[in-house]
Amino acid sequence: MIKSGNLGYPRIGKNREWKKALEAFWSGKLDEKSFLEQLAEIRLDGLKRQREKGIDRIPVGDFTLYDHMLDTAVMFGLVPKRFDYKGGAVPLSVYYAMARGDREATACEMTKWFNTNYHYIVPELADAAPALTENRPLSAYREAKAKLGIAGKPVMVGLYTFLKLSKGYEPEQIGGWIDRLLPLYVQVFKELEAEGVEWVQVDEPILATSLTEEDMKRVSAVYEALAQAAPRLKVMLQTYFEAVDHYEAVISLPVRGIGLDFVHGSEQNLRSLTTFGFPEDKVLGAGVIDGRNIWRADLDAKLELLAQLSAVVPYERMIVQPSCSLLHVPVTTEPENKLDPVLKAALAFADEKLDELALLVKAVKEGKAAVAEELTASREAREALQQSPLRNRPSVQEAVARLDAHPSRRASSFETRRKVQQQRWQLPLLPTTTIGSFPQTPEVRQARLKWRKGEWSNEQYETFIREQIKTWIELQEELGLDVFVHGEFERTDMVEFFGEKLDGFAFTSNGWVQSYGSRCVKPPVIYGDVAFVKPMTVAETVYAQSLANKPVKGMLTGPITILNWSFVRDDMPREQVAYQIALALRSEVEALEAAGIGMIQVDEPALREGLPLKRDKWADYLDWAVRAFRLSTSTVKDETQIHTHMCYSEFHDIIDAIRALDADVISIETSRSHGELIESFENNTYDKGIGLGVYDIHSPRVPSVEEMVAMIDRALRVLDPALFWINPDCGLKTRKQEETVASLRNMVEATKIAREKYAVKC
Ligand code: GLN
Ligand code: ZN
Repeated sequence: MIKSGNLGYPRIGKNREWKKALEAFWSGKLDEKSFLEQLAEIRLDGLKRQREKGIDRIPVGDFTLYDHMLDTAVMFGLVPKRFDYKGGAVPLSVYYAMARGDREATACEMTKWFNTNYHYIVPELADAAPALTENRPLSAYREAKAKLGIAGKPVMVGLYTFLKLSKGYEPEQIGGWIDRLLPLYVQVFKELEAEGVEWVQVDEPILATSLTEEDMKRVSAVYEALAQAAPRLKVMLQTYFEAVDHYEAVISLPVRGIGLDFVHGSEQNLRSLTTFGFPEDKVLGAGVIDGRNIWRADLDAKLELLAQLSAVVPYERMIVQPSCSLLHVPVTTEPENKLDPVLKAALAFADEKLDELALLVKAVKEGKAAVAEELTASREAREALQQSPLRNRPSVQEAVARLDAHPSRRASSFETRRKVQQQRWQLPLLPTTTIGSFPQTPEVRQARLKWRKGEWSNEQYETFIREQIKTWIELQEELGLDVFVHGEFERTDMVEFFGEKLDGFAFTSNGWVQSYGSRCVKPPVIYGDVAFVKPMTVAETVYAQSLANKPVKGMLTGPITILNWSFVRDDMPREQVAYQIALALRSEVEALEAAGIGMIQVDEPALREGLPLKRDKWADYLDWAVRAFRLSTSTVKDETQIHTHMCYSEFHDIIDAIRALDADVISIETSRSHGELIESFENNTYDKGIGLGVYDIHSPRVPSVEEMVAMIDRALRVLDPALFWINPDCGLKTRKQEETVASLRNMVEATKIAREKYAVKC
């Protein structure tokens, strides 16, 4: 009969015990033995919890000491040569050196896991010699069996996904790498089979991206080989995050089960399923509970969906599961007693999602009547929030319904604005500025803590912030920068700061999710219509401006970044939420302008990461993202200069959208990948103000004047000096004061040299 399954459970523990253990171990406060014991406890606790919830297929091996991609690399001995590793079992010191770097070697790169906010360690294949160092899924299986009597479902990253996400080889060499790694997968599979493991979950989310026929041929060959090697081991080929394009090819693979996402890409997966059917010898993993969001599911709708699926795949061959690993949601809503009860009741984190899975299975097995009470409770909880004034602000809904009535275009063209702005500001050639934040010293953090705990009054805290602002205005003056910032000392986090001040946001006390390694984030919850309440940044900006003899930029976080770094309500399309945020921010932009602030920067560092996995959905996303940005920035006067900032350099594929933002000035990161970005401007000229970061703020190193001159020279080979700005790559909040001042001093020096060179040419 129908069963419930899970794909992965949060690693971090109910109270982030995992993070605490890792950090204690790294700092030497915890020895290796106690560390491993503590981690085992967290791991087993998660397994027990899943059993208590009545989950039939419990994943094992999804737990990690840092990251699952790193685990996979290490399991196959893929340790780059620069680390101190001589083969055999990989010691923890090497494992963590790969993740975090050590005195001898720089860390491996880290990047986003598909379109989530989880970051994985990028395996480097170039000079590594693959060898199986440990059968991790097998160890995990044995542990769960021995300690808890749970016959778990080992989870591993599939070969194709692993290779596609690795670096250090040319695309045409992928075949060679398959040949090298396949025997190791074969060995892992054979050992699992010999152990009597029934199911293994092989994650191939890469199948939910845009793959070619060629790719599919290789995938097929891989699974043929694995099926031959371990015919009794049942493989659940798991896809998630999107629909599978090569549906017919995927369902013909020689595996015993296919897991599909019926939340993200649901329509397409459903269409494929009903059009092409589903093989009779396979089990369907029906990912119907959203593993990426934190809301209670509409269980009635989910039951209907299951019924629809069962017309193609009988319930006997169906597993009800989350759409992806629950790693992307917090552990449990239990401690969230500070939230409004109506909101709390409408939330479902990992544990509550497991309850939902169990409930769905029970409803199918025993009929809806058997769970009528629970279904009603769930329905009522959702309804209560839906109807609540917490969620509904009619004026916001009306404003968004009449979106066309709001300007999303500046009154004049860039050329016109540019002249007016130049008249107003009289900026020199190659104006210098920074990206917004200045060092958040321990002093600043302590002050905030004291204030949050109530040890400091509002007044005390405000005075402190003003002192910081004053210090840095004076420093900027002394350094000779042309456009100042106030320094963002009052902000911890660029989204939280605004979320706390806008209507429609809530903050959990314990809603942490892993971002990378031991770092966890607590995304704001956008639960209701977003509305502007009162000015959020005006006081600090105006104060800074009152001290300065140069323009001070107002500093805001843009609508798309706020959206992408939050948990977003799921009862309306994301773009509608983006428009709501945009209109709220527009009020802030207007308030700044009215207060005499003539340059306003709206940061969108998360614009790119919101891109859908499938290329054919990019245009739509970029369209509404650009519209949202423009809604928040279009009502200002010609003479008001709108800036934006993004911290990455892969630009070539979204350059049209960047241009469409119509910002007067954009600053972007380049120093870490200079050549590439410059190239993309070679055949794609950019004709508005632009600052390519001339030094890397991620490192404490103070760059020399010469280096920065060289950076500027390179950029000015393809960009117009008359439109070029000089700035660091990103905000300076993670840097120390001394290195910041020294770096900026050199930056101003470099600018002087460049000005002399380029003055004549303009
Ligand atoms: N204005 C922000 C800062 O300087 C921008 C941060 C970012 O791009 N992530 O900190
Ligand atoms: Zn940045």
